[in-house]
Amino acid sequence: MVAPVKKICCIGAGYVGGPTCAVIALKCPQIEVTIVDLNKARIDAWNSPDYQLPIYEPGLLEVVRQARGRNLFFSTDVDAAIEAADLIFVSVNTPTKKSGVGAGYAADLAYVESATRRIADVATRSKIVVEKSTVPCRTAESMRTILEANSKPNCRFDILSNPEFLAEGTAIDDLFAPDRVLIGSLQTPEGVAACEALASVYANWVPRERILTVGLWSSELSKLAANAMLAQRISSINSLSALCENTGANVEELAHAMGRDTRIGPKFLRASVGFGGSCFQKDILNLVYISESVHLPEVAAYWRQVVEMNEYQKHRFAKTVVDTLFNTITNKTIAVLGFAFKADTGDTRESPAIALVRSFLLESAKVTIYDPKVPHEQIWLDLSETLPDWPIEKIQKSVTIAPSALEAAKKSEAIVIATEWKEFREIDWKVIYDTMKKPAFVFDGRLILDAPKLREIGFRVKQIGRPEVL
Ligand code: NAD
Repeated sequence: MVAPVKKICCIGAGYVGGPTCAVIALKCPQIEVTIVDLNKARIDAWNSPDYQLPIYEPGLLEVVRQARGRNLFFSTDVDAAIEAADLIFVSVNTPTKKSGVGAGYAADLAYVESATRRIADVATRSKIVVEKSTVPCRTAESMRTILEANSKPNCRFDILSNPEFLAEGTAIDDLFAPDRVLIGSLQTPEGVAACEALASVYANWVPRERILTVGLWSSELSKLAANAMLAQRISSINSLSALCENTGANVEELAHAMGRDTRIGPKFLRASVGFGGSCFQKDILNLVYISESVHLPEVAAYWRQVVEMNEYQKHRFAKTVVDTLFNTITNKTIAVLGFAFKADTGDTRESPAIALVRSFLLESAKVTIYDPKVPHEQIWLDLSETLPDWPIEKIQKSVTIAPSALEAAKKSEAIVIATEWKEFREIDWKVIYDTMKKPAFVFDGRLILDAPKLREIGFRVKQIGRPEVL
């Protein structure tokens, strides 16, 4: 008989820890959930009286409104939450290492290690510790070593892997009705009991047949593998989009025809300017690093190609813009619509829009940017990071952040759709056309626009994966 979990602590109040544990609190009113973070500004935002939450995610506000103060709490008091909890999620960031061994590929596990050490230092009774962060295979072993070497007498730690498969933009729907919940544990009686304790939490709303229990190392590797497979599909369709543009085929017709094959399926076959987000590239590079570490260079090369194709697609799209605008964009104004890495999120991590704006600025263009959800400070920060040699004054001379798509487009030579926000389909393109320099160009990097209608208005339109119709 496994003791039910009564108190949960989640270390890391980010895009994963916040929504995931808010949903657990909502669905399990009998469990007290405390989400902690070292970042005070982030916790203050989660606690803000007018619900100015630190991240935008459809449906999240409602979840937090219902559970916050009832059995959901946000705090910077990491130690108190660790000490009180029966079960602790470690949901901290695991970015790609910037320097040292494995720089550019390996996951930086400094945050995981520091959270683990904190747990060991603070806990005075036994805990279940759950890896929620995406980590390299066998990270649980390192965590166990750290915990056991530092634990107090009568204090045992059972470590589980429970990777998160939510996608930003649909996080709440994904958490309410997950395709699967994956829990990895050691196949010991204690490991299996800990696994059952966590499974019982999810079983409050997830059907049992969707809760998969596997070995620890399979669980850790499954997350990296799932992201690699998803990104691979995008790179595959994007490579075909290049072929389409050069042969007269249409990538949407291609995707439709391929997707009807039940062995292939229709999802994740949408051609675009490239994938972004904090996970796909980072997790594939991590897989490449692991493959090289275990002396499998051919496996590493295979997965590295998925990232290289993504870089190529962004570069190819930027080049199309320059080539089409008569081989020069010097001093021309390009309106970039969308800056988030995908629709329905304010997250810009690895957003293709950053790479596009960078390319345009290096070609001496002027750029106007509009995104409905990304804070302006974030845009300036991203541009400063992508152009480290440019002082911010220089960037601000060439870039304007506009309050609407219409304002961004005014007097521009070209519009680039970088994010598939629904509002870009619905704006009055005739009004936009009238404010632009002529000939007016639209480059649809997300295949969301009605090209024939835009051509009727007078635009020249180029779309990913479709030959241009003049
Ligand atoms: P994030 O950067 O938004 O949040 C991580 C938070 O952890 C930060 O607020 C940071 O301040 C906090 N933190 C770091 N060290 C800490 C410590 N020692 N004590 C307390 N707080 C600490 O990251 P995220 O997007 O939520 O991702 C978290 C993990 O989940 C990563 O491993 C990521 O790969 C994985 N993941 C992310 C997504 C996604 O869509 N973002 C999806 C699935 C899995």
